[in-house]
Amino acid sequence: MVKNILLINPWICDFAAYDLWMFPLGILKIASLIKDTRVRLDFVNFLDRSQGTSFKIKKDASRTSSYGTGRFNKELIEKPACVEAVPRPYFRYGLPELILQDKLKTLRPDLILVTSGMTYWYPGVTQTIELLKRMFGDCPVILGGVYATLCPEHARRYSCADSVFSGGSMQDILELIGKYLGIELVQCPRQEVLPDFELLPKKDVLPVQTSKGCPFRCTYCAVHLLEPELKQADPGSVINHIIRCFKNFGTHDFVFYDDALLLNAEQVIKPILRELIKAALPIRFHTPNGLHARFIDRELAILMEKSGFTNIRLSLESTLGSIQKKSDNKVTTLELKEAVVNLKKAGFKKQNIAVYTLIGLPGQGQEDVLEDMRFIHDLGVEIELASFSLVPGTAEWKTLRDRSVIGLETDLLQLSHTAFPLLFGGWNMHTIKKLRLQAKSLNAA
Ligand code: SF4
Repeated sequence: MVKNILLINPWICDFAAYDLWMFPLGILKIASLIKDTRVRLDFVNFLDRSQGTSFKIKKDASRTSSYGTGRFNKELIEKPACVEAVPRPYFRYGLPELILQDKLKTLRPDLILVTSGMTYWYPGVTQTIELLKRMFGDCPVILGGVYATLCPEHARRYSCADSVFSGGSMQDILELIGKYLGIELVQCPRQEVLPDFELLPKKDVLPVQTSKGCPFRCTYCAVHLLEPELKQADPGSVINHIIRCFKNFGTHDFVFYDDALLLNAEQVIKPILRELIKAALPIRFHTPNGLHARFIDRELAILMEKSGFTNIRLSLESTLGSIQKKSDNKVTTLELKEAVVNLKKAGFKKQNIAVYTLIGLPGQGQEDVLEDMRFIHDLGVEIELASFSLVPGTAEWKTLRDRSVIGLETDLLQLSHTAFPLLFGGWNMHTIKKLRLQAKSLNAA
C-alpha cells in the first residue's frame, strides 16, 4: 500500500520578513532521498508567493521584484506579551489560512514533515502544526530544520510536533520516517543529495550549493552548530546540476546558498565558473549570504563577472577592530577595499555590490554604524544594514547569559533582529530608523 508523506514549509511570525530567495532546501533534499515506489510525496509551501489562487490576496502583497525576491503576503496578528515593548506591529507571513485549508483538504497524509527556520519564528511553526493537527487529526508530525536543531527542548515543549529531529544525518531522518511509516526505506546514497526541484511550482530561480559549513567561528553565528565541518562538493557535480536545471527547467537565476562559497577557490569555485563560462549559458548568480571578501582576487572577480554574477553581497560587519575580532577576523577593512577594487575593475557597478554591516550590537554606538556606512559608501557600493540577532548556543549567547544580560526567562522572540537591539542592545527605534534612512539616502546618492 502506498504511504503519503506531506512536506510543509511553515508560516513565519515576526515583526518583519522578506523573501530574499528563501527556499526550504532541507525539505527538498529529504524529498529527493525518498524515491520509493511505496511512498507518495506532497509539498505545501505556506510561504508560497508564486501560485495562482481562487482566493483574493491583498493587493500589492506577495508582489515580485526582480530576480524572484519579494514580499510575502502578511496578516496582522496579536503581538506576544514578551515583546509588547517593541513599538512595531507583529505579523504572520505566508498564505492565508483559508487558502491553505483549500490546498490541504484533499490530502490524506500518513506522516507530515515540517521544516523550520530562525529560532524566533517558532510561533509560525506552532501555528502551522496546530492547523495541520486540526485538519489531519492523529497524523504524526516530525519537525526538523534550524529551530528544531538549535532549540530541541523548546521545540518539544512548544511546537506541538510528535517528534523533533534535532540534527543528524540524512540516513537518520530516513530511518525515523521509515519507523513512522512501518517500512524500511532504501539506504541513503553516500554522495551529496541534490534537492528535488520537481516539487516547486516555479523553477525560474533556484538555489545551488557548493558547500556546507564554514571554517570561521564568528561569535554570533550558528553555522558550526548546524554543520560542524566545511564540506565542499565535487565541482563537476555542481556544474552538471546547474546545466541540468537550465536545460530541464529553463532556470536562468541561481542563488548560492553557501556560507563559505569562496573557500578553497582554486579547487572549487574557480573551476566551476571556468566551465560555466565555456558553456556560455544565459544565466545569472546571486549571493544573499555575505561572501568572504578576502578571497576575491583579480582572477576570481573576472570569473564572477564573465559567468553572470549579478547581486553580490560581501560581509564586513564593522570597521571596528573589536567587532572584526568577534567576526573571527574573517575580513579586514583593507581586504574588503581590495575586493571591491577587483570587482569594479572586472566590470561590476555599484548596484551589483552590497556590503553587509551590523547594527544593534551591544556596546556598538550610532557613530560606529555611521562610520561603517560612510566607509562603504566611499567605496562606491551599496550599504546593507543587517540587524543583529542573538542565536541560542553561539559564543555571543553564552557570554550574555554568563553576564546575566539574558536569562532562563528570556523568550526566543526577544532575541530576534527587531527585538534584541531594543530590549538588550541599548538601542532605540528612533536611532535605528534614522540610520536606516541615512543608509537609504547614501545608497541613492
Ligand atoms: S564567516 Fe559567516 S558563516 Fe562563517 S562563521 Fe562567520 S558569520 Fe558564520
